[in-house]
Amino acid sequence: MRPVVILGATGSIGRQALSVADHLGVEVLAVGARRGSDGLLAIAGEFPDARVGVAAPTRVEQERFTDLCGARASFGPDAMTEFAAFPGVTVVNGIVGFAGLAASIAALDAGNRLGLANKESLVAGGDVVSTALRRGTGELIPIDSEHSALFQCMLGEDLASVRRMVLPASGGPFRGMTAADLESVTVDQALAHPTWRMGPRITIDSATLMNKGFEVIEAHHLFGLGYDAIDVAVHPQSIVHGIVEFIDGSLKVHMGEPDMRIPIQYALTHPERAAGVAAPFSFADKALTFEAPDLVAFPCLGLAYQAGRAGGSAPAALNAADEIAVRAFLDGRIGFRSIAAVIERTVSDLGVYPVTTTDDVVAVDREARAVASGHLGGAC
Ligand code: MG
Repeated sequence: MRPVVILGATGSIGRQALSVADHLGVEVLAVGARRGSDGLLAIAGEFPDARVGVAAPTRVEQERFTDLCGARASFGPDAMTEFAAFPGVTVVNGIVGFAGLAASIAALDAGNRLGLANKESLVAGGDVVSTALRRGTGELIPIDSEHSALFQCMLGEDLASVRRMVLPASGGPFRGMTAADLESVTVDQALAHPTWRMGPRITIDSATLMNKGFEVIEAHHLFGLGYDAIDVAVHPQSIVHGIVEFIDGSLKVHMGEPDMRIPIQYALTHPERAAGVAAPFSFADKALTFEAPDLVAFPCLGLAYQAGRAGGSAPAALNAADEIAVRAFLDGRIGFRSIAAVIERTVSDLGVYPVTTTDDVVAVDREARAVASGHLGGAC
């Protein structure tokens, strides 16, 4: 198995990727994180031969890592792209946020396997990543549970045989609530996700269903399917991770315990499988249910479809506006329902224009953040 580079090493995906690499006995060549935290220092200690990158260190952090890691340490955003371009590796990109796009492109341009958990790479930079995939020998294996599931359902299948793909959504903590109920929900309620333990932004994105909207856009780029052929079904048990319906009426359903180590491991072992760390699946007392999403109570899902269909700059604007709106909600500056309002106004203000390079995406991102920030005042 190829050695791995793990970016976003201190985050939820990064830590689980480290435990999977350890379980598989795969060499960890480099780890990277945004900040020079104690957590990263502990990882540097556990993997004494790995290079260690800190993308945005404080002066104190830089001195500390230089003292303790010596020549192993690198600093600045270029450290992430340098590690991503190490020859012959699998790059697990668990970077949270927009900074992950440059690392994805660097990995693909170096002909590496990219185990992708960074949403922004495909949501904001889908066209750029698709171009990088086409021009080189790089390979993309999705790590998000839904896309890993769809990817595995598609093995041995032809896109022309697909009627549609269905992304299951847990529905988040507010499933079943009406738009009126959602007027008064709190940050703590929104952060209490029923099945997955994740970072704060993705947890709020799950509560609004924007996360599922992002996944629809990612699925479009990953599999080359039109938006009319990508559906969402609310499935609160989070046991089914992806469904492909074929033109003959057959469905392939990928299921398993909600454990991110399973898709992370698959990204490292594909096309082979290895014994994993997850316990055997138990069928006892498992009922699986599906229902249609409520697009009135959860308008973010519809906004994501609109932005995806519009293409060009719209998904990058959607992503940037969402990040600003979610941050404002977490800080208590706007209510839950205003998240969608801020995003809708921002995407509509920006219009739609083509994006072909990483710089184009960066420019859209910057502009959308400014416009979204301007909408926060009137949104409370
Ligand atoms: Mg997911």
